[in-house]
Amino acid sequence: MSGGDMAKPLLGHQSMEGDPSITPVAGRTIGVLGSGDFARSLAIRLVCSGFKVVVGSRNPKRKAGLFPSEAEVTFQADAVKKTDVIFVAVFREHYSTLCDLADVLAGKILVDVSNNTEMNHHKESNAEYLASLFPACTVVKGFNVVSAWTLQSGARDGNKQVLICSNNQEAKRTVAEIAQVMGFTPVDMGCMSSACEIENIPLRLLPAWKIPIFLALGLFLCFFTYNLIRQVIHPYIREQKNKLYKIPIEVVNTTLPCVAYVMLSLVYLPGVLAACLQLYHGTKYRRFPDWLDQWLRHRKQIGLLSFFCAALHAVYSLCLPMRRSHRYQLIETAVKQAMEKKMNIWVEEEVWRMEIYISVGIIALGLLSLLAITSLPSIANSLNWREFSFIQSTLGFIALVISTLHTLTYGWSRAFDENQYKFYLPPTYTLTLLVPCTVILAKVIFNFPCVQQRLLRIRRGWEKGRYVKFVLPSATGEYSSGETSSNV
Ligand code: NAP
Repeated sequence: MSGGDMAKPLLGHQSMEGDPSITPVAGRTIGVLGSGDFARSLAIRLVCSGFKVVVGSRNPKRKAGLFPSEAEVTFQADAVKKTDVIFVAVFREHYSTLCDLADVLAGKILVDVSNNTEMNHHKESNAEYLASLFPACTVVKGFNVVSAWTLQSGARDGNKQVLICSNNQEAKRTVAEIAQVMGFTPVDMGCMSSACEIENIPLRLLPAWKIPIFLALGLFLCFFTYNLIRQVIHPYIREQKNKLYKIPIEVVNTTLPCVAYVMLSLVYLPGVLAACLQLYHGTKYRRFPDWLDQWLRHRKQIGLLSFFCAALHAVYSLCLPMRRSHRYQLIETAVKQAMEKKMNIWVEEEVWRMEIYISVGIIALGLLSLLAITSLPSIANSLNWREFSFIQSTLGFIALVISTLHTLTYGWSRAFDENQYKFYLPPTYTLTLLVPCTVILAKVIFNFPCVQQRLLRIRRGWEKGRYVKFVLPSATGEYSSGETSSNV
């Protein structure tokens, strides 16, 4: 049998042995209707997982060579007779051509693995359609979120979750067990009405990323336009200087850190707003408005985009000295100084500013990398809640403070220099400071003991104006209880 990785089961069979909840299904004969890409990958994986496989094709002679020798490739009707569980690896449009098999299929489990090309393409899901064509069969939806490539790529790569739904619990359990023996993680999605949702999953394009990406693009566009006006349009209008060459690198490189910094503050701003609402209402049991709820749920993606922009900013900054324009400017300055007979151009303050600016920038990027890495599910799952919240909340906030230092050392005294106000527009860095400084200030206020204690009590279930049972230690050290208003 061919196959490198395919020769190894996704999980060793022994891993199932100790689990009493799992009926041994390995060794059972599984049928596959169809001989395309999916059917072939599925058959190989099933064989490697210890199943006997019988493939039903319209043309078994021609297709037999594509399958491992351990799999039997035969006519559809013949294959169906030899097994009780049949994977239908055929497109929906061809389901009706299988109707001739209705009698032999009666009483068997059909696994619908099909996908659509568009979301909600048909009124009823493919699985429901299959069930309507074969009412004497039990249809289970499953394996459609696993690609032929994932089936082939073995234990190392690919999505390992198999979403399963059916109206028949027993059939669903059988298919879940098969998935488990194959090394996948079956996820019970309930009854057949979930099939439509399961079929839509492979067609979704980064659903959790849409809002954060639009947010990042919106911020990028705003800051890019602002920087373009200051760095290119202003010198052109005021001094007739052509600075268009600055657009690809300089303007982009002054825009990226603005986006990264503001996005990082937007990770922590919804938490601040949520805390303000909880303090205002004096309870944690009141639902946040939908927009805040959505924002809270997208913090991970916003943070990762902030890291992405910061990383690009670092690469752009490292490449700045490589540019021809930079070399010409350096030589020009050197010549000018030589003509003016200036020997010492060392400005102590500028030297220190740059050293500190770069150093805090590197630390901020390091912390952002740590936040990005620990947000990956495989890493996050290895941390307990305290470790995860320490990294994401405390270190994340420290990253925001250090990024603020990076921005301040970059700006230094420019905010007080009137030459920096192009068309009366303040330097870009002053604008970027607004949201992050508000977040930092709010976090500092939340750390005042009076505010912190009230917030802590609210988060432990205390509610304004509610009578609660309290327990207090008495003078003798024993505890006495009574009723009081927690508002007092
Ligand atoms: P494919 O390569 O085109 O294979 C489809 C197979 O259907 C053919 O090889 C053919 O086998 C069989 N078939 C039966 N009746 C047919 C008919 N009347 N006309 C044409 N073909 C007929 O497609 P595939 O990529 O394997 O996909 C098969 C199913 O798996 C689809 O429902 C798809 O949505 C689903 N799926 C595929 C993937 C993937 O990565 N490819 C992932 C998830 C789900 P015979 O000629 O031997 O009968």
